[in-house]
Amino acid sequence: MLNISNIVDVIDNSKVKFNEPMSNHTTIKVGGKADVLVVPTTKEDIINVLKFAKENSIPVTVIGNGSKLLVRDKGIRGIVIKISSKFSDYKIEENKVIVCAGMSMPKLSRIVMKEGLSGLEFACGIPGVVGGGIRMNAGAYGGEISDVLVNTTYIDDNLNIKILDHKDHNFSYRYSYFKDHPSFVIISAEFKLVKKDIVEIQKEMDKNSASRKEKQPLEFPNAGSTFKRPEGFFVGTMIDELGLKGYSIGGAEISTKHAGFIINKGQATADDVISLMEYIKDKVFKKYGVKLENEIEVIGEE
Ligand SMILES: Cc1cc2nc3c(=O)[nH]c(=O)nc-3n(C[C@H](O)[C@H](O)[C@H](O)COP(=O)(O)OP(=O)(O)OC[C@H]3O[C@@H](n4cnc5c(N)ncnc54)[C@H](O)[C@@H]3O)c2cc1C
Repeated sequence: MLNISNIVDVIDNSKVKFNEPMSNHTTIKVGGKADVLVVPTTKEDIINVLKFAKENSIPVTVIGNGSKLLVRDKGIRGIVIKISSKFSDYKIEENKVIVCAGMSMPKLSRIVMKEGLSGLEFACGIPGVVGGGIRMNAGAYGGEISDVLVNTTYIDDNLNIKILDHKDHNFSYRYSYFKDHPSFVIISAEFKLVKKDIVEIQKEMDKNSASRKEKQPLEFPNAGSTFKRPEGFFVGTMIDELGLKGYSIGGAEISTKHAGFIINKGQATADDVISLMEYIKDKVFKKYGVKLENEIEVIGEE
């Protein structure tokens, strides 16, 4: 029988970690171990690993910077492919930027700012990478990925490389086509920006960053907004009105700074976070009749 450790036959040993705690790869710093975690540096690495997994019926999970993920305490079976800064080459052609999926969104927003290109100011404080940003249609301060994306290059289930045009992404609030195709791996994207004065761009980014620092619990590990914004309501306000700021289960706490965030006080388990999420949902439903939907993605073995 094939052993998963044979993965080192298809990707360099230095890019592979066995029994890797996912708490090292999520911003909320929670999560059990992945059987195998690979950090590809090239498109070929990604294809080789996907091919190995397909041929051997090994499940694959793709992650970016883990800033929207809660990995269950039992961890992840199979292979986790982490598309990170190790896969983040880019090129700028006039007002277009073509970038690999592992590029950090804050870094990209600074790179294009220095070129006098506007459009990614909203992304300067979103701690994900381009692949995760596209899948989530990440957005803030009136902008979102769908405003600037031209197309996405991805690998499909048959290991074909395909290009998806903007119009086929079916973008909506925190949603894209890739949410319905979780096995597709985004490898690069093209963005179209507009020329603008660098000082103006910088000013906008500084304003966004200052607002985040003031409102969000950036001093504690977290995974961003816990729930999607329901039509006509603000999640943080509802939780605040319920008097739940500071309420905790185990090491997971509803932030006292922003009730829409759950923070890890140090020793939180995924079970703590999930229990707290369920507790909030129940309380909000009873008082407001609103069914909160997770924005955080919960993954891993149940
Ligand atoms: C402090 C803080 C502030 C935040 N603020 C915002 C905000 O203002 N606006 C906002 O929209 N979000 C915000 N987020 C959430 C998060 O940063 C975004 O959703 C981000 O886009 C997730 O990117 P990621 O690389 O971390 O993806 P991950 O969390 O690693 O993954 C998210 C999803 O994308 C998939 N994915 C990742 N890479 C790929 C790929 N290459 N191909 C296919 N699928 C892939 C994963 O499978 C997963 O389903 C915040 C998070 C934190 C911690």
